[in-house]
Amino acid sequence: MRVLKFGGSSLADAARIKDVCSIIGSAREREPVAVVLSAMKGVTNLLLQCAGEAAVGDAAYHDHVAEILTQHREAVERLPGAAERSVLIAMLEQLVHELTELLRGVELVKECSARTLDVIASFGERMSCRLVSAYLDSRGTPAVTVDARTMIITDNYHGSAAVDFALSYRLIAEELAQTRGIPVITGFIAATAEGVTTTLGRNGSDYTASLVAAAVGADAIEIWTDVDGVLSADPRHVPEAFVVGQLSFKEAMELSYFGAEVIHPYTMIPAVEKNIPIWIRNTLNPNAPGTRISEDVVHDKHPITGIASIDNVSLVNVEGGGMVGVPGIAGRVFSTLAQVGVNVIMISQASSEHSICIVCRQGQARSAIEGLGRELAHELSHKLIERFELIEDLEIIAVIGEKMRGSPGISGKLFSALGDAGINILAIAQGSSEMNISFLVHRQDRARALQAVHRAFFGTAESGAHA
Ligand code: ASP
Ligand code: MG
Repeated sequence: MRVLKFGGSSLADAARIKDVCSIIGSAREREPVAVVLSAMKGVTNLLLQCAGEAAVGDAAYHDHVAEILTQHREAVERLPGAAERSVLIAMLEQLVHELTELLRGVELVKECSARTLDVIASFGERMSCRLVSAYLDSRGTPAVTVDARTMIITDNYHGSAAVDFALSYRLIAEELAQTRGIPVITGFIAATAEGVTTTLGRNGSDYTASLVAAAVGADAIEIWTDVDGVLSADPRHVPEAFVVGQLSFKEAMELSYFGAEVIHPYTMIPAVEKNIPIWIRNTLNPNAPGTRISEDVVHDKHPITGIASIDNVSLVNVEGGGMVGVPGIAGRVFSTLAQVGVNVIMISQASSEHSICIVCRQGQARSAIEGLGRELAHELSHKLIERFELIEDLEIIAVIGEKMRGSPGISGKLFSALGDAGINILAIAQGSSEMNISFLVHRQDRARALQAVHRAFFGTAESGAHA
């Protein structure tokens, strides 16, 4: 069996849904398939917006609910041959009615808990799956909507719940064994053991797909999206970026962490556990081979696999002679950052111990500085630490690849390419896994840095694309 997952952009409107159903139809001719769907494009965002509006008594939520219904209804009306159209529309209207009642409740109490928000967010997938399974049915491909809340069981950490793997695997296998026709499974949503609706975190449908695949021992997971696969670098800055044919699970994790938002990072967990390859495919270009993510990768001739980048980051530098040889400063720095809710993206400290540099999202830098100011007030007043330095508008660039491990000369090549391009590097970090060398540059140098590194490792467009 193969598990096919389609994201919101592949479900934007009737035309895209038709493409999706042809892909499902031809996949099923080859082997059994299970389908996992996201909400239609933009719907989850609208649902969350409605919740926010209702909670402050803003009546605009009524218009946004109407917008959601219109998007679905238009798709139904434009899909040819949907014989049971009126039944389907009635079913979608019933769901929207339920949603409206919930939002009305939120409006009345002027408060929307994380628990209620999950229920509101669940409507997108519940609607898209009903629509698509009805259309598949009408094309002569028997399909059934399967609500994942009956089989994916989580804790009650609303907004990003943790899955009970053993129980969920058993329930998924049982449920799908008795499903007649193609199961069209709601991505993203789950439930607690008590049946309370939860969600797996934004973009969690990928994760649903790999949970389903692991539970039934599928041969492959196909994540259908709107790009040809994982790219060697951000194509907005590197025109010659190309689709990477194969990636290891570890490399995919590094790349997805770095904002190459093709796949939800948790997706890799069940896939790695059961060694199931994941394909990234393009609904708009179904003949493109896509990217294969697996355990057994045959790496091409290039020494690195890809270049990732994160924009809008800031550097906070904690510097001072009084830190040298004093244990505990780093511990205090990082626990303070955790207390004030700052997510640390990159760290580096040179062995002189004279400074610790911390990189975080630009929006969190102020809280980092304030928190550290309070925690290290004593050190500051005794000049053991000079004041903190804050540098904004930075970009992290990371070269990623398992082949870098134990192969000398990669950083030499990297930094001489950057040097030749006249790019100033503010900080560098490499973990001992040697799979990732990250460095920090000013935003105005970002495109030039990415291009210089891409050229150094992948050569020109021709030699890169056909490696
Ligand atoms: N619809 C959900 C979201 O927008 C889940 C997904 O798209 O995977 O986050
Ligand atoms: Mg999505």
